[in-house]
Parts: sequence; C-alpha cells; structure tokens
Amino acid sequence: MNWSDVAVVIVAAGRGVRAGGDGPKQYRPLAGMPVLTRTLNAFAAAIPGATLVCVIHPGDVDLYESAIASAPALRADSPLLQPVFGGATRQASVRAGLAALDATLTKIALIHDAARPLVSARLMRAAVEAARAYGAAIPALAPVDALKSIDERDRILRDIDRNGVRAVQTPQAFSYDLIRNAHDRAAAQGFGDASDDAAVAVWAGHAVHTFEGEETNVKLTHPQDFAAAQAQLMQSLGDVRTGLGYDVHAFGPGDHVWLGGLRIPHDASLVGHSDADVLLHALTDAILGAIADGDIGSHFPPSDQRWRGAASDIFLKHAVELVAQRGGLIAHLDATIICEAPKIGPHRDAIRARIADITGLDLGRVAIKATTSEQLGFTGRREGVAVQAIATVRLPMGEM
Ligand code: MG
Repeated sequence: MNWSDVAVVIVAAGRGVRAGGDGPKQYRPLAGMPVLTRTLNAFAAAIPGATLVCVIHPGDVDLYESAIASAPALRADSPLLQPVFGGATRQASVRAGLAALDATLTKIALIHDAARPLVSARLMRAAVEAARAYGAAIPALAPVDALKSIDERDRILRDIDRNGVRAVQTPQAFSYDLIRNAHDRAAAQGFGDASDDAAVAVWAGHAVHTFEGEETNVKLTHPQDFAAAQAQLMQSLGDVRTGLGYDVHAFGPGDHVWLGGLRIPHDASLVGHSDADVLLHALTDAILGAIADGDIGSHFPPSDQRWRGAASDIFLKHAVELVAQRGGLIAHLDATIICEAPKIGPHRDAIRARIADITGLDLGRVAIKATTSEQLGFTGRREGVAVQAIATVRLPMGEM
C-alpha cells in the first residue's frame, strides 16, 4: 500500500488545562512515552510514507523536539515536516498545518488530535479510504446512553433521539483541496468558531460522510483519562515474552573498558570489532531474543566495516526500535556482569542511568548486578568479562 499522497496534520497546540499535571497533556508520558510521540508513532507505523506535520504552541519547541527524538517508528527518512506554530483557535491551527503541506503531492489530508494516541491502524486506514471515496469523512460513534438536552442549571429540557446523533472523533479525513479551500474561505469570510474540521467543510457546502469510529479512540482530556488509557495500553500489550543474552569479551592492552555505555578506567581494555561493550551487547541480544528476531551479529555483521569501533549504544537503540515498531514496549532489563575487575560497584548507578537513557526506560526498569567467579574460570583468571542479561518485553495481543 502506498500512502505517499496522504498527509496528516496533528493538532498539538492546545494547553490541555483540564488534564491537570505539569505542562501540556500532549507531552505527558503515557506508559513511558509522551502522548504526542505515541500518536506520531501510530501514524508512522500504520500508514508509512504519509507526510506528517505537527501544529504546536511556540512555547513548546523543546518539548516537541524531545518528543520526536523518541518516536521509534520515525526513521531518518520519515516525511515529518518542521512543526508549524498554531493560531489563536484550533481552526486557525489546522489551517496553518494544511498550508504547510505540499499541494502538488498531497491528495488526502487527515486531521487528528494529538491527544488521541490510541487511534488504531484500522481506523487510520479506514479514514484514508473514506476520504478517497467521499471527499470528506469522519469517524463517529452512535451513543449508547439515552440523551437529554439540558438548560444552564443542568435541568432536563427534553429528550434527544439518539438514532439521529453521533459523537465524532478524529482522524477527520478529506480531499486535500476540498478542506484547504474550505478553511481559506472560512478565514476570509470570518467563520472562525467551528468545533471541528467537519464543521468547516459543512459550512463550505460539502457533504461530510461518517464511518464507524472506535470506543478505544479516546481523547485524553481529564486526569483520569490517562490512567484509563494506560490500563488499556497495558491490557492490549498482554503478550509477555522474555529473552536471554550472553556475551564475552577478552581483555587486551589499554587503559579503559566500555561497560553499559560508560568509559571506565582500567589497566586493560576489552577487545572487539566495535567498542566491545559486553554489557550492551548482552542486553541487545536479550531484547532480540524476546522478539525472536535473530541476534546482534545478524543485525550488525562483524564483517561490516561500518561497525568497526562503533559505540554500542546504537545496537541497543536498534533493538529498542524493533520492539516499538511492533507496537510493543520493554517492561524490564536485568543483567549480571561477571568479572574480578574492574570493580563495578562504584559505577553501578551511573551504568543503570546510562542504560535507562539509551533505552528510554524508567530507572526502576533497569537492573544491573555484578559478581566475581571466585577466581575460577576465564573471568576468575582476569582474562575477560562475561555478561548475562534478560529482557522482558510486552507485545500486542494477537501478534504472531
Ligand atoms: Mg560482543
């Protein structure tokens, strides 16, 4: 499937005051990943090749930069445009996002709330297909509860026939020319208080179709929504797997070793094709084992000159990315370093912090232990360092 004529405007310029907590809700962590990162990641994974552009608040540039740095499905070649600054209203923000798109390339535009990170691949693809078929289409749900109209003092005025109403969601999907022209005309003629983009299209005289939305495609609005979304994510990640990693490197001449991404002074160095970071290698293999995706040598062949002297954090980051590309997350990493020297104790906390940083995990999900082998065997004879590692990974249910 080719999505290169599709563009997605992700509206992330709001302040999210109702959600409580520190800072705008679209940058708050949800199961270890900022909400905006999850949303971007979902689109990049479901409709690869589609152009993405975020509309952000000018005060959030640093938050945005750190959010996109950790979106695993976004590759170096991913068509993510520079962010656009939002306007005074949501409607003005969307218009700015649409204006940033390539008018010759873009046939279909999806407009999505950053605060709906649980949007499914099915819904994103259905939105694209509906826009191709109808020119303007939005996801909608028939209400389950009875509906009442109320007055300003919360007293019931009358019943509303629920057969005739829908609760609408995003992504709202349009032919690009249709929605861009509608927004431009609305701005020119002073129509500026649309509740969503469907309202702009209707104002401009277009028929807007609805297609089936999803109960799980919630908009994170209140503090309790975060807890519910986190529980929903964790429940969907019920395929728990473990993987084992083991690595050994021998000592050679030198004055430092690399362990866990840290340079530790020593009276010898570890010998290897890369930087010989035996701990990061074992952790990488443990993660690859958990997702049954080969080993470090199959992803980074020693015969490839690119990895000569390479800093091993790139191997570990790649394994983390592979998990994220499958929609999963790493629940825990644990490793035991086996050597007589160097002494690990003084460096243990720094190593944990470095691994948490490389993998994006909370510190409480990274364990590092060390032991000697009581002067027995090759580690006991100070000929090298061995590491055993184990990774626990959660993948989406139904993944084969
Ligand atoms: Mg190795």
